[in-house]
Amino acid sequence: MKTLGHWIGGKPADGASGEFGPVYDPATGEQTTRVALASVGEVDRAVAAAKEAYREWGTASLSRRTSVLYAYRQLLDARRDEIAALITAEHGKVHSDALGEVARGMEIVELACGITEKLKGELSTEVSTRVDVASIRQPLGVVAGITPFNFPAMVPMWMFPLALACGNTFVLKPSEKDPSAAYRLAELAAEAGVPEGVLNVVNGDRTAVERLLEHPDVAAVSFVGSTPIARHIQETAVRHGKRVQALGGAKNHMLVLPDADLDHAADNAINAAYGSAGERCMAVSVVVAIDSVADDLVARIAARAERLRIGPGTDPSSEMGPLITGEHRDKVASYVRGAAAQGAEVVVDGTGLSVAGHENGFFLGVSLLDRVRTDSDAYREEIFGPVLCVVRAETYDEAIALINSSPWGNGTAIFTRDGGAARRFQLEVEAGMVGVNVPIPVPIGHHSFGGWKDSLFGDLHIYGNDGIAFYTRGKVITTRWPDPADSGGINLGFPRHD
Ligand code: NAD
Repeated sequence: MKTLGHWIGGKPADGASGEFGPVYDPATGEQTTRVALASVGEVDRAVAAAKEAYREWGTASLSRRTSVLYAYRQLLDARRDEIAALITAEHGKVHSDALGEVARGMEIVELACGITEKLKGELSTEVSTRVDVASIRQPLGVVAGITPFNFPAMVPMWMFPLALACGNTFVLKPSEKDPSAAYRLAELAAEAGVPEGVLNVVNGDRTAVERLLEHPDVAAVSFVGSTPIARHIQETAVRHGKRVQALGGAKNHMLVLPDADLDHAADNAINAAYGSAGERCMAVSVVVAIDSVADDLVARIAARAERLRIGPGTDPSSEMGPLITGEHRDKVASYVRGAAAQGAEVVVDGTGLSVAGHENGFFLGVSLLDRVRTDSDAYREEIFGPVLCVVRAETYDEAIALINSSPWGNGTAIFTRDGGAARRFQLEVEAGMVGVNVPIPVPIGHHSFGGWKDSLFGDLHIYGNDGIAFYTRGKVITTRWPDPADSGGINLGFPRHD
């Protein structure tokens, strides 16, 4: 069995705490790795390494920072397959999906390569006689990232490339369920020329997280994970005087209007609900179908769901892999088993699936629940598995009221051929990311990613221009070079621009 420690100061660091957690291959159910769980002392070492590295990196020239990032981008490109294989081995998602995750993460490295343009300041000359004003942005210092299991490479890459490009140093605490991909990203960063201590990885659980939240040398915290933990992260980090962005969970609704192309809508519902076994924060978990087309749409989704090929992520013919742990699989299955008693019609029941040769893997078939009641557990809770709920509405107004009453507001989508309806939806819906005939509207790297309501705690979205604003702070410099012939003399009045 492999043992995975930490990456501190540009080198591997053993798990000195002596505490370890299990990492499984979800396709076989076997433990493959024991991952070190950092003590407070180990987190302190990582923060100290980052603080020391900041002395140089914080003032390194933009050309130095970007040349390292370009080299990193090239290395990631060459190692896509290797990183994707690590993701599949510990997360379970199919290889093509893992490759897509790496590609989306690399978009942020590409954005970071262009930081020179993004960090350009502003200058106003002669705002007063011989007075100029410049606005610049500077790094924060040591920043921390805490990431979830479902995108073990992409979500860390949403954070550290941009943080480093802005001149910060970084301590990453990846999910303890699938930590190897993030660790490899740090090793490759060192290979690309990222100096020692600029990017550190501490593996661990709550102990490591709590220490990062209270550590006096951590200036800011980026978090992505479930809503209860996101709320806790924001409250605790703010109490300790830190800047924080904490992205939480979701329950994403896809509205299908009667004029939509129903085959197109059904294909997209399937892809967005069951891709990555539903373990995506942007997964569609609720289809809101307008009554007049609901029966037809449900029949089309069900026919497609029954044909999906489920198997190990390493098998190129698999379209969907297992769930992350046996415990999570059982919890997801319990929503399907309890659905009928809470009023839903179970159209497709995936709870009985067994994958030949992988009987101990954490597999679960896909499920489709129709006529789901909004007071039922399947509707009210984030299931985070391959379960699609259908809720019916009589009108557009009823549908939008339903979507806007959700406590979450991550992503949402409308399927229609009516431009006017789509335009109304994009302005009226209360969510941070909206798709029009696009079911998972994950913004590209040059835009920012983030939800509303209980899907994001903090003011700024992640990556894009918001990410750059998050990882820098503003400074405004007012300059006068007096003419020796006109020193101005003494004047205690309020400074005037004239
Ligand atoms: P999680 O909240 O359980 O864990 C996220 C991180 O927090 C991990 O690093 C974990 O070690 C740490 N953590 C867990 N419990 C903690 C505690 N009590 N105190 C301190 N730290 C703790 O989330 P997960 O199960 O790994 O990931 C799935 C969740 O993440 C889903 O809710 C999903 O919607 C959400 N997610 C959201 C986005 C987004 O962009 N909004 C993206 C990906 C995932």
